[in-house]
Amino acid sequence: MKLKLAIQKSGRLHDDSIKLLKECGIDINNGVNRLKTEASNFPLEVFFLRDDDIPQYVEDGVADLGIVGENVVMEKNKQVQVVEKLGFGKCRLSVAVPKAMDYSGVQDLHKLRIATTYPVIVDDFLKKNSITAEIHEISGSVEIAPGIGLADAICDLVSSGSTLFMNGLKEAEVILKSEAVLIANNGLNAAQQQILDKLLFRIKAVKKAKN
Ligand code: ATP
Ligand code: ZN
Repeated sequence: MKLKLAIQKSGRLHDDSIKLLKECGIDINNGVNRLKTEASNFPLEVFFLRDDDIPQYVEDGVADLGIVGENVVMEKNKQVQVVEKLGFGKCRLSVAVPKAMDYSGVQDLHKLRIATTYPVIVDDFLKKNSITAEIHEISGSVEIAPGIGLADAICDLVSSGSTLFMNGLKEAEVILKSEAVLIANNGLNAAQQQILDKLLFRIKAVKKAKN
């Protein structure tokens, strides 16, 4: 019996996900096969996937576990359990508006066109604040949308804020603070749960050592 863990194939969470496994004393030969690999000293198989696909795979049980940003977990809204926060991949999902805009609160978003790759989270945020706005779902380079006249505001991930600044934008509302989390399938059997508990024990020890 092995657990199948899905991690990001490449991108911001890849290296830290691999590093976490190493720190847990789990050796994976991260080389030849770019789709999956096996740990040599722990009952774990690691799949490399696009982060957006990970919640679905975990819900379906194609993977038992996954490492993704909380932002992706919320946007995809799948039936999975968040087991542990992992302390890396920290960022916030924020609404940004043109620097020159006189922004004083959420009500100023009323009737604006907001470009984002997070339509579900933005829609939820607007509803909670009783704001009617137009959501324009785009798949990337969200920060350039206001500059080319595609939108009046954006909602995107921010860490330092330098990308916003370079595009003439300023952060107006923080919708969500996010970090990488370990998610799990809801229907793990006893044997699978036992392996997860073992992994969790190590992850917690690694986190404790860092504090
Ligand atoms: P993929 O090819 O897997 O779909 P991606 O382009 O969607 O990758 P990345 O940019 O690699 O995703 O980001 C992955 C995750 O890293 C984000 O979903 C978020 O949780 C986290 N993250 C941390 N800081 C940032 C940041 N400054 N900008 C974007 N994402 C960040
Ligand atoms: Zn992605």
